[in-house]
Amino acid sequence: MRSADVVDFSMSTSMTNTSSLLTFDNVSMTFDDGTRALDNVSFGVKPGEFVTVVGPSGCGKSTLLRIASNLEANTGGTCSVDRDSIGYVFQDATLMPWRTVQRNVELIAELHKIGKAERQQLAAGAIDLVGLRGFEDKYPRQLSGGMRMRASLARSLVLKPKVFLFDEPFGALDEITRERLNDELLRLFQIEGFAGLFITHSISEAVYMSTKVLVMSARPGRITHSFDVPFAYPRSHDLRYEPAFAELCGEVSHALRGAHQ
Ligand code: ADP
Repeated sequence: MRSADVVDFSMSTSMTNTSSLLTFDNVSMTFDDGTRALDNVSFGVKPGEFVTVVGPSGCGKSTLLRIASNLEANTGGTCSVDRDSIGYVFQDATLMPWRTVQRNVELIAELHKIGKAERQQLAAGAIDLVGLRGFEDKYPRQLSGGMRMRASLARSLVLKPKVFLFDEPFGALDEITRERLNDELLRLFQIEGFAGLFITHSISEAVYMSTKVLVMSARPGRITHSFDVPFAYPRSHDLRYEPAFAELCGEVSHALRGAHQ
């Protein structure tokens, strides 16, 4: 069995790389109440990479994304990213209920003061990309959970981010919808060319989506294992039934069980 790279992440410089679009360099986080959420986390996300972080609940995964998106300020180390080139999709699609799909998708372009005609055009392109054409005039309450996620994805795609952050975007969806959206997202990953940083509780989703899977320890979160995923894109549903896929899932699962201790 191929074993994972067990990386000494206290040696941060080995993980920082100037070609990364997003870099965590010895990032630590202690909240005001003394909760230590992250401990010396170092890794980078380069162009063409889709990196997924798995770890026990409460180990600091969301905190990592919140630091990258500037919603939280790390108390140690450095997070480097061009914040104008980040897109986000969180578990809750966070659409505005009083806006139609079209107007929700235009929102980020609107906040960037892009003129009406241009943002309508950008939104139409993004709506097309996520397969929501024909639903432009619907309100979020008229959409399924999967469609709301597509709209949320489209909203961030409008500005063509170089790095996309995903915090358990499909966690609340049924398995078939989730697998379909996994394929949709990978298609966008390939045609749009963004790099991804993805969080999930599902090991098979992590392996299916990613070029690399990182395992975090229980709080305070540290990266304990890094698995390179060798399967070529485009990936198809059948990959999930291949022995090499099952074997890699087993290795990640083993590492994750260790992380829970
Ligand atoms: P995960 O996404 O891995 O489930 P989080 O990043 O959400 O974990 O949280 C990591 C830890 O930090 C948890 O124990 C959580 O309760 C704690 N935490 C998150 N936000 C705050 C905050 N603003 N103040 C204090 N503790 C927090």
